[in-house]
Amino acid sequence: MVRKAVIVGSGPVGCLTALALSKAGWSVAVYDARADIRLPENKSQSLQRSINLAISSRGIAALHAVDPLISKRFMKTVIPMRGRMIHTTNGAAESQLYDLNGQCINSIDRALLNEDMLNELTAASIEVHFDHKLVAADFNKKVLTFNKKTDGTTIGVPFDFCVGADGSYSTVRSQLMRVTRMDYQQEYIPHEYIELRVPARVDENGNEQFQLDPGHLHIWPRHSFMLIALPNQDKSFTSTLFAPTSEFSKLKSPDEFVSWFRLQFPDATEIIGEARLKQDFLHNPRSPLIHIKAHPYHYKDRVIILGDAAHAMVPFYGQGLNCGLEDVRVLDVLLRKNEVDPVHSISGGEIDGRLANALQEYTETRHDDLIAICDLAMANYEEMRHSVTTPLYRLRKMVDGL
Ligand code: FAD
Repeated sequence: MVRKAVIVGSGPVGCLTALALSKAGWSVAVYDARADIRLPENKSQSLQRSINLAISSRGIAALHAVDPLISKRFMKTVIPMRGRMIHTTNGAAESQLYDLNGQCINSIDRALLNEDMLNELTAASIEVHFDHKLVAADFNKKVLTFNKKTDGTTIGVPFDFCVGADGSYSTVRSQLMRVTRMDYQQEYIPHEYIELRVPARVDENGNEQFQLDPGHLHIWPRHSFMLIALPNQDKSFTSTLFAPTSEFSKLKSPDEFVSWFRLQFPDATEIIGEARLKQDFLHNPRSPLIHIKAHPYHYKDRVIILGDAAHAMVPFYGQGLNCGLEDVRVLDVLLRKNEVDPVHSISGGEIDGRLANALQEYTETRHDDLIAICDLAMANYEEMRHSVTTPLYRLRKMVDGL
């Protein structure tokens, strides 16, 4: 009999895991607390948060490893960014290429990526249950308990293998802590972020145009805070302002916000427009930034956490999702290496030794890399908002040729 893998979370990491396990022969079901973001009535949910992300070769390699066709389709929807454009206070802009050989990072619409991946699950006939929130897990009895938002009832879902891809505030992780001696660390940094939209410009022929060069990730570093902007397919940019909560708290009204913004980012004020800035300040959420480290990532032969559930990181290295997708690739390699057989039947309390070995190997071999990338992400905040503006940094770039 084919054994059942239950994935909690249908974000990009949960979707890629579902595709990888389905291809490996598991019977897969995905559960998510939210409603289906593909339905028009739910679109506003997915538009509330950072609408684009930078995907690098790390993430693309993971998509490719699971399905080369998916990564090919995905690459058609991205906008390559070959460098960062540093905007100084006097309005000057300086391009710093990421790579002399032209390697790029890629701007992708987050909602589109997630919707495309959900469509891949539908095409692969993988069950997805929306509006099902995980509220408890008994990993010894192998039963997950979900609350159905539609009618308030609670259901028990049996599983053979559970993957927690339920994001930074993971319930799978908190349930896992009850059965493992998990070392766990979380930290809110003093900064938070708000998203602001740079609209497209309409030219003399009525065509929409980018207001900034779409081949760059734009940064306005201002030492203790910064503004960034990534291009979208519709010729707009999604801009994100990162600043300490103490700085945001001084700005009590949209007018105060606009005056402050104009002082710090005069050129960005012109392209966003004061009316839009006021609107975004009033309506867009100010969100915290959390950093999470955990160890181990698994329990016996039956549960593992991946993506933000295992290692939420601050976004300054642009690697959170890339790393989550890589988790799936690494797990897939280890399942194959350990010859895990989804058809192999396990009775009663018996342990699947191969699966247990694969999960143990994942925890042992993946941990140092995850800690390193979380720390690099934290270190890159200093670089993006401050170091890129210093003469020493510029000299180092010239010497390194980067
Ligand atoms: P999520 O996308 O958070 O998905 C988790 C899913 O689990 C959700 O669908 C949720 O509804 C569901 N869920 C949660 N709890 C439950 C429950 N109890 N029961 C059932 N379902 C549940 N990364 C990059 O690689 N590049 C970037 O440029 C980048 N920029 C970023 C910018 C910002 C401002 C931020 C905040 C993050 C950025 N990241 C970036 C990080 C990236 O957004 C995350 O790493 C990525 O979204 C994590 O994906 P995930 O699938 O693990 O989790």
